[in-house]
Amino acid sequence: MSYKDAAADPENHLEGGGRQNHGIDESTGKYLTYKQFLRLSCGLAEALRKNGINADEVAALCSENNIYFFVVVMAALFTGLTLTTINPVYTENELNHALNLTQPSKLFCTKATYQKFLDIKSKKDYIKKIIVIDGDRSIPSGLSLLDFLRSSGTIAVDIYKFKPTNLDSFSTIALIMFSSGTTGLPKGVMISHYNLNARLMTQYNSRIWYQTNNPNVLGVLPFFHAFGLQLCLGDLFDGKSIHVMEKFDPIVYLEFIEKYRIDCIIAVPTLLVFLGKHPVVDKFDLSCLKDIVYGSSPASPETVKLAARRLGVIPRQAYGLTESTFGVTAAPPGSSKFECIGFLYPGDMVMKGYYKNEEATAESFTEDGFLKTGDAGYYDNEECFYVVDRLKELIKYKSFQVAPAELEAVLITHPEIKQAAVVGLPDDRAGELPLALIVKEPNSNLTEDEVKNYLAGYLSKNKHLHGGVKFVDEIPLNSVGKIWRRELKKMIPTLKSKL
Ligand code: AMP
Repeated sequence: MSYKDAAADPENHLEGGGRQNHGIDESTGKYLTYKQFLRLSCGLAEALRKNGINADEVAALCSENNIYFFVVVMAALFTGLTLTTINPVYTENELNHALNLTQPSKLFCTKATYQKFLDIKSKKDYIKKIIVIDGDRSIPSGLSLLDFLRSSGTIAVDIYKFKPTNLDSFSTIALIMFSSGTTGLPKGVMISHYNLNARLMTQYNSRIWYQTNNPNVLGVLPFFHAFGLQLCLGDLFDGKSIHVMEKFDPIVYLEFIEKYRIDCIIAVPTLLVFLGKHPVVDKFDLSCLKDIVYGSSPASPETVKLAARRLGVIPRQAYGLTESTFGVTAAPPGSSKFECIGFLYPGDMVMKGYYKNEEATAESFTEDGFLKTGDAGYYDNEECFYVVDRLKELIKYKSFQVAPAELEAVLITHPEIKQAAVVGLPDDRAGELPLALIVKEPNSNLTEDEVKNYLAGYLSKNKHLHGGVKFVDEIPLNSVGKIWRRELKKMIPTLKSKL
């Protein structure tokens, strides 16, 4: 099945089996049926076509988890327009980096995010239109989605006659998502239509996904990130009702599992810590759970055991990265080998490269075309894989990417900072906490709080110095004058490599 089937065979995707709701906002109860969803997606696709889509054109979507999010994703997929998904909590500094790299002509945002673009738009002449996807009415600098469809004459599009654009799935970029890869600043990962189709082909593979008849899923992992996005796209093709949660609320989450007798949940380690340790979990009947999958960063064996003991299910691992449309391996449902990340997925989901960055693209592949993940691991004689260390520069705070180079680039602009290096301090709950090693300029009285606040003025919360600041006399450099990251770890006793 591919996403083109949704348009080719709408009846199959519209009603039936109690699965008619595509998305339900868990906090307000507002919902979109599959029919409304398809109508809006086709209407938006037609509106985009009428407005003209140039070759290589990019649109940006900056939205919190929202029931309209996938309307934009689907319309872009239907038309071949490349979509970049932007973290909704990005600061102006981070937005500048993402927007200048991708230069989107259209910006899809929400009532919660549009304000951060009002000022930015006037400084970026490549942004031609702002569309507020959940807006009830248009605002002076942005059209609501419905007004955009009305003004384009596509509000009453005939979904039975709608046809997606014919495109070459290998060469057409569907998505640009941000990842810092093995080194440096966040880069734009180019995911092709073929990559997405290969991912969707796995949806009914019972060695990867727990096959359930339960139509309800919770959309709680961030949609802008590869993990949350590909999961929801899979659920959507499966006709599931996605209960959208903008922010993780522990009570709503537990009530949801209990009320809908959810048998399978997909988590990140921070959520496993909550499920394994938080006293409130005991107040709910979670005996319906039969499968728990987690990935995106490692969890300690203690965390996994605590969750397993409490929930009566051994959490199994999946592993992936943005550069591989997320999924690479998964332990099969029912697996009790919780240390392993499982078996290789079929199909080729490896990115086309980094957008407008040939050098980084070349560096991220071996000569014979394999992606360098930046992770160290091995497989056993059953071809079951294990990750033992992360060799790349990346820090993962609550499974969000934190690129040390991005923090260092900000810190070094402080007049009293001579050198700066950022490392991840291991932490049970968050995985790793960004910590800065700072060499002060002579005679400086800079304090830890001043450094933290300075950085917080430029970067979003996940990238703040949650691990603190350590003032040092020097930062180890390698023979070419770059920060010697392996040596850095020795400066903090708790930062030993797992290898
Ligand atoms: P991202 O592109 O943000 O999804 O980050 C990808 C990186 O997350 C991988 O290269 C790994 O370092 C890490 N990662 C993902 N899944 C796992 C896992 N199951 N165990 C350990 N690390 C993981």
